[in-house]
Amino acid sequence: MRRLILGISVVAVFGVLTACTSLTVQLNVNQGVANGNAVSNFNVNTVPVNVNAVANVNVTPVTANTNTQAVAALVDPLDRRAERVTKKSFGTYITPKTSPIQPERFTGYHTGLDYETFASEAKVDVPVVAACTGKVRARQTVSGYGGVLVQQCVVAGQTVTALYGHLRLSSINVKVGAELKAGTQFAALGTGYSSETNGERKHLHFSLHKGTTINWKGYVSTKGTLVDWLDPQKYL
Ligand SMILES: [Zn+2]
Repeated sequence: MRRLILGISVVAVFGVLTACTSLTVQLNVNQGVANGNAVSNFNVNTVPVNVNAVANVNVTPVTANTNTQAVAALVDPLDRRAERVTKKSFGTYITPKTSPIQPERFTGYHTGLDYETFASEAKVDVPVVAACTGKVRARQTVSGYGGVLVQQCVVAGQTVTALYGHLRLSSINVKVGAELKAGTQFAALGTGYSSETNGERKHLHFSLHKGTTINWKGYVSTKGTLVDWLDPQKYL
């Protein structure tokens, strides 16, 4: 009888232990599920927040760069300006004695920008393109320049006449009154030391005179008079 009771007790204890073990396992499973949900929810909720934050950061600088980028008002009439503008800039004062060009016949303050030519261009056509968009006002031979084209444009809100000097007149392919668009090739430089350049070296004289009145002067005698012209380099 004692053995039977002991046997029943052992079975009962074992049963309780088994039940407890099962309960423990079940609790762990439930906790695992609970944890799994929590992790999933955390990830799903936070990802969209991060995406939005990155998108905002990217959009803001792009807008700022677009607003602050300087847009040149003019196109270079000849390429490689830095290598070409080496002798006479806007406002350079020269005399026959001090001029970087010898011999020199002029005296005064330079009203334009001189684009020089390279030795390799001495015997080939050097194309000239329009620096701005506007109508052709003049196409003729002028003393001091040889062939000249004058175009009327608006540069940074100011109406100007753009003068291109020392051109081969016969190469100019636009007529007075025609619209000439910025960047359009319209002429070739005149041959150096010929009537096409009025005896000057092969180069381009480019100036911007304020207003609608054409002013042919390549030099002025007083510095204050330069106020009637724009410095092209400030708009290129
Ligand atoms: Zn010049």
